[in-house]
Amino acid sequence: EFSESDILQHLPKQFFASLVQHVNAKVASGADVINLGQGNPDQPTPPFIVEALSTAAQDPATHKYAQFRGQPDFKQACADFYEREYGVKLDPEKEVAVLGGTKIGLVELPYALMNPGETILMPDPGYPDYFSGVALAKVKLETYPLLEENNFLLDFDHLDPAVADAAKLLYMNYPNNPTGAVATPEFYAQTVAYAKEHQIGVVSDFAYGAIGYDGKRPISFLQTPGAKDVGIEFYSFSKTYNMAGWRLGFAVGNPDMIEAINLIQDHLFVSVFPAIQRAGSAALNSDQSAAKEISDRYESRRDALLGAAAKINWPAYKPGGAFYTLMKVPAGYTSEQFANLLLDQASVAVAPCNGFGPHGEGYVRIGLLVSEERLVEAVERVGKLNLF
Ligand code: PLP
Repeated sequence: EFSESDILQHLPKQFFASLVQHVNAKVASGADVINLGQGNPDQPTPPFIVEALSTAAQDPATHKYAQFRGQPDFKQACADFYEREYGVKLDPEKEVAVLGGTKIGLVELPYALMNPGETILMPDPGYPDYFSGVALAKVKLETYPLLEENNFLLDFDHLDPAVADAAKLLYMNYPNNPTGAVATPEFYAQTVAYAKEHQIGVVSDFAYGAIGYDGKRPISFLQTPGAKDVGIEFYSFSKTYNMAGWRLGFAVGNPDMIEAINLIQDHLFVSVFPAIQRAGSAALNSDQSAAKEISDRYESRRDALLGAAAKINWPAYKPGGAFYTLMKVPAGYTSEQFANLLLDQASVAVAPCNGFGPHGEGYVRIGLLVSEERLVEAVERVGKLNLF
């Protein structure tokens, strides 16, 4: 008989596992559930990327163990992409780390850069997997609140200076999951200055970097002067090109931080399937019209959702990017009670935001991952409950 290690026992519970169970039970009961709880893109990968994979998979050269640290032409494509799209120059060998999806890099980074007991700063609400990395590395967690009154940007003036001085790493995520908030150049300039003053490494999670609304493309943290001195950025294919199942992403920026990621990867993984890296190069080297179309579709859905919500007086935060809309919970309910009520009485599944941290309480998150018609229908069902 085996028992789990102490570290495993201290991992945070997968909050959304129970939600998924609940939704599945409702579907099994025959209900027509509109599932807005998940973060899984509903559209297919653009065909030219699938074709690039198919061609590459037929080349026996892609069938062997490949370079641990990624194929040189893929790393070059990552560097070229950042230069072309953001004006950021990168050394493909020293400033790019290839990853099987960004989640693994985000989770292993505290382990690669920190000793047990050292302090890490994470957003609240924040993407739940960040907290798995904290538990695995046994580092000390400090959170900073994301508040609507600050457009869900970190408020440096309210960070405890003692915590800032102790902190070794600071995670931030814009466009943000779950709020849909986006960063400004001024905010990132302040971030770089603060990181230099307090000697903190910045980790920018840019998983939703290609999804921005109202004619504004989200900015990269690395566009900020001095950013490469203090931090790195994670870029994912999952949302940009509807490639969540493919597991491809990369990290770029500060060469010491990139080296730490590469070192830990050397011990845990053998490279991403080279054919997938070739398809990834095709995606990055393309004119990005496919990514723009994907983003535009979410924007139309956002507008349909917000229009319907306004009709029933359901307050919402208008997202500037990512594919979520944060909705207020009516008085008298917790996020979880409200989410359960919507599932039970309207067959609408949403994500209760307390699952992303205590400051998510009072909100539920809607994923813009079904058609406009279904989003409007979901809101109309909620309207019939007369809660607002
Ligand atoms: N970061 C955020 C904020 C996310 O929401 C997600 C996925 O949902 C990820 C990272 C992980 O993306 P990937 O598929 O690249 O591992």
